[in-house]
Amino acid sequence: MPLLDLKKDYHVHSNYNDHSPQELSIENVTIRAEKINLNTLAFAEHVRRTSEWIPRYLEEIDRMVSSGTKITIISGFEAKILKDGTVDFPVEYEGHFLIASFHSKYNNKQDWFSALKSAITLPYVKVIGHLAPEESFDLTDDELLELSQLLKTNRKTVEINAKYQRPPMKWLRVFKDNKIDFHLGSDAHNLSEVGNFNSITNLIEYINS
Ligand SMILES: [Zn+2]
Ligand SMILES: [Zn+2]
Repeated sequence: MPLLDLKKDYHVHSNYNDHSPQELSIENVTIRAEKINLNTLAFAEHVRRTSEWIPRYLEEIDRMVSSGTKITIISGFEAKILKDGTVDFPVEYEGHFLIASFHSKYNNKQDWFSALKSAITLPYVKVIGHLAPEESFDLTDDELLELSQLLKTNRKTVEINAKYQRPPMKWLRVFKDNKIDFHLGSDAHNLSEVGNFNSITNLIEYINS
């Protein structure tokens, strides 16, 4: 199983969303990534089916890619998993790197678990972001095993997320035993968070041990 590479950040936001600072431009994020010696950077901007900024965003990333930067830049999105098990993503952009994440509370464990399982089977979803149960429920060993096997069969990557410090260690043990692919995501919403994985040193050490 490949080890987690701290020079690759697969989850960075930009100022194309409505809640990040203006300084978080595609260019500034790339400059920051160069400065701290990252070699891979994936922009994963919050997207909805109705988002209108996507062509501008992709063009700006393309310009950055062809600017001569040594960093491998990946253009991608983060989309919300919906209760019907689809993701809030405009499918005409399939082929771009896509993280599917939970961004709203379900309260009902079975609703949440079936939405998750359905999202994992979607071919255009590449990664499951900051995977975690809500406080009011947890998965049984059997459910974790089922989840693990589904991730494996559908060849999804599980993100190790620095912002939320997810997934929980108990889940990682099962995922690691089942040889799930992992990668790192800072989920940076400002420049100083780009490539910063200090909050999840314990999770990284566990996976890389
Ligand atoms: Zn998220
Ligand atoms: Zn995010």
